[in-house]
This record gives sequence, structure tokens and C-alpha cells, in this order.
Amino acid sequence: MVLERGEVANSWRRERWDSLRLLTPNWQSRLPGYRYEGADPDGYMTMGEVIDFISRFAVVSGAPVRTQTTVTSVRRTDRGYHVATSQGDLSSRTVVLASGACNAPSVPSLLQAIPASIQCLTPFDYRNPTDLPEAGVLIVGASATGVQLADEIHRSGRRVTLSVGEHVRLPRIYRNRDVLWWMDASGVWNQRYDEIDDLTRARGLPSPQLVGSPQRTTLDLNALSAAGVEIVGRFAAVRNGRALFSGGLRNQFALADLKMNRLLDTFDEWARTHSRETEVGPAERYEATRVPPSSRLGLDLRNGEIRSIVWATGFRPDYSWLHIPVIDDKGYLRHNGGVVDAPGLYALGLPVLRRRKSSFIYGAEDDARELIDHLAAYLQSKS
Ligand SMILES: Cc1cc2nc3c(=O)[nH]c(=O)nc-3n(C[C@H](O)[C@H](O)[C@H](O)COP(=O)(O)OP(=O)(O)OC[C@H]3O[C@@H](n4cnc5c(N)ncnc54)[C@H](O)[C@@H]3O)c2cc1C
Repeated sequence: MVLERGEVANSWRRERWDSLRLLTPNWQSRLPGYRYEGADPDGYMTMGEVIDFISRFAVVSGAPVRTQTTVTSVRRTDRGYHVATSQGDLSSRTVVLASGACNAPSVPSLLQAIPASIQCLTPFDYRNPTDLPEAGVLIVGASATGVQLADEIHRSGRRVTLSVGEHVRLPRIYRNRDVLWWMDASGVWNQRYDEIDDLTRARGLPSPQLVGSPQRTTLDLNALSAAGVEIVGRFAAVRNGRALFSGGLRNQFALADLKMNRLLDTFDEWARTHSRETEVGPAERYEATRVPPSSRLGLDLRNGEIRSIVWATGFRPDYSWLHIPVIDDKGYLRHNGGVVDAPGLYALGLPVLRRRKSSFIYGAEDDARELIDHLAAYLQSKS
């Protein structure tokens, strides 16, 4: 039984902004026994298309979904789990936690110090630029959400200042192929969680600076600053009504460039050793991220220069209903490749759950197959 508090594809219906498209190409939209079969495998789905895609899967797969059913508590019992829901209680020998990795925006405590005259939004509140006052906007965070919103809000005619911390830079197209084709073909995305040296770090990495657009454009910091977006450092503090930004942009940029180039080296090496060189076009390298000649270190939050802040600072899961001691002190689930440290309890859809691709739709199929094997063996051992 699949319990869903809203409708099928709820997160895509309720928690995304209007213009969002997937940053994964259509051919990577696949679920067990079901895949995109349209005419544009290299395109990127709009939200309406994602909702249709997942809704059709629910029908085709015959998934026993109970919608409008919120799980309010899960507790252990002698025989498995007691699941309380808004539609009554259930008991179950196994439970798969597939409630998502992005249930709530993750906003730093700096928010408390922002003057009341500034309108603060998270990506869950933001739908399109008309939600914002006609004035300058500070966007905090330069991962996938931050760069996409910076681009859209800048195009709406508002002055945009983008505060940049650690980020992952990627070109959209590399050697004539989508960069996510390279991630897949070269095996990077399939790297298993138990082969990764620093798994905690891998699980906490920000999303890549990518956008899915019909033009297949690269949306890195060079593109944004060339368009007129002002780049500033990490939002570090608020003092006397001023936002203070750290001065470490040069280092942040150098690190992101270095990591991107290392990844491109991996792709090139794979193409060479797998005799794919002629098929994919010549190797490319990109201009280093340009450091602004004098990036400012402060911004007055009271003089009207900006009147809104969009916190594109990431998302976190919500396990407030899970009454089992498997959550760490940062609010994340303790698990080993999706096998949670409680008999018969499993998780799916979390970052680098079993592979680097686990947090994407494309990652669900392999993870689900392996976890279901484990779950079936567990049930058999108990029968
Ligand atoms: C802004 C953004 C953009 C993204 N872009 C891409 C992309 O381009 N490509 C890609 O592959 N992935 C993308 N992702 C990641 C994407 O969200 C995941 O790949 C996918 O949604 C994971 O599916 P899921 O079912 O595990 O989680 P979710 O889609 O989050 O689904 C979890 C479901 O659980 C329900 N739920 C939660 N709590 C309860 C409860 N207590 N009781 C009952 N139901 C509950 C929710 O309503 C929701 O429907 C993006 C994520 C975000 C936030």
C-alpha cells in the first residue's frame, strides 16, 4: 500500500515554481518498467509533463495508492510497525520511507535577523517574479535553484544580487552530449555508496548549477554575471541592518572550477579508453569563473536597494512523524544503503542512497530493485 498525503506526484504539483523544468533529460525520466517514449528524448520536462508522467506510471503499474492520507506517526510494535494516518490506523511488517528528501526549505538562522521590511521567500513560496516587489532582490545560494531563480528574476527586470557559497559548476553540453549523459556513460553516476570515501560529504553536496531549457544553455556564474547579475560571497551575518558577505569568492570559484575540470578529465579518460573519441567531438575546457573586480562585502537591508530575499539554500526531509530512534542529531535518517537500523524499515529517494544518481528519478529503479530484494528476504526469513 502506498500512502500519499496529497495527490500522486504531489511534490511536483505543490512545491515547485511555475517555470521549472527538470534538469535531467527526458530519456533519464524512467521508473521500473516505464520510460519516456516521446519525440524529444534530449528535452527537459515541464512540471505539467512530470505530473502526467508520474500519474500515468501510477496507473500503468497498478500501484495501490491511497491519496489524501497523511502518515502522522510510525512506531515499532512486536510484529512490525503501527502506522497512524489521517484516515485511520494500519499495521505492517515492513515500511519503506519514500517521503522525499526535500520536504521543507532549509533556511539559515540568519533569517531571524532580517529587517521586517524585507520580504523573505523560499523556493516553496516562490511561483514567479510577480510574487516579488518591483525592486532589487537578493538570492542566497547558487546551486540549481539559486542560479535558475537568479536568471528568471533578472530577466523580469529586477536587479539581482546572488550570494554564492560552495557550489558545483557544470556545463550543460560537453563534447556535444548532455553532461548527464556523460555522468551516466562514464559510470560516475553509478558509483556505489559503499565505494565512496567520504559518504557524508557526498550526501551533503549541493545540486549542480544546471537548468533544463529548450536552448540547452549553460547557466554558470560567468553566464549570470555577463547577463548583469551581481555576484557576492557567502551570506555570513547581519549586523546593524547590513547583510555581510564573506570575501572568499576567489577560493570558492577556484574549487568549483578545479572539481569541474577533474570531472571533465574523467569523462575524457572514459571516452579514450572506451574508443568513443570520434563519436563525441573534441575535448573542451572553459574559461575560469571570473572573479568580480570588487565584489562588495556588505548590503544595506534598510535603504530600499533590495526589498526581497529568496533563500535558495537547500531543502531537508521531515521525519517529525517517525517515532523510531533512527534520526541523527542533524535530522537525517541513519541507514546503510536504504536499509534502516530497525528490522523491516527501508528508505528510498535520498541523496547517494545506493548510488550517486539515487536522488534523481533516474536513480529510483536500481535502488528499488536492490531494496526490494532485501525486503523480500527479510519477510521470508520471518515466515
Ligand atoms: C526544486 C527541485 C528540482 C528537482 N529537479 C529534479 C530533476 O530535474 N530531475 C530529477 O530526477 N530529480 C529532481 N529533483 C529531485 C526529485 O525531487 C526527486 O528525484 C524525486 O522527487 C524523488 O521522488 P520521491 O518520491 O522519493 O520524493 P518526493 O517527490 O518528494 O515524494 C514524496 C511524497 O511523499 C509525500 N509525503 C511526505 N510526507 C508524508 C506523510 N507524512 N504522509 C504521507 N505522504 C507524505 C509527499 O506528499 C510526496 O508526494 C528535484 C528536486 C527539487 C526540490
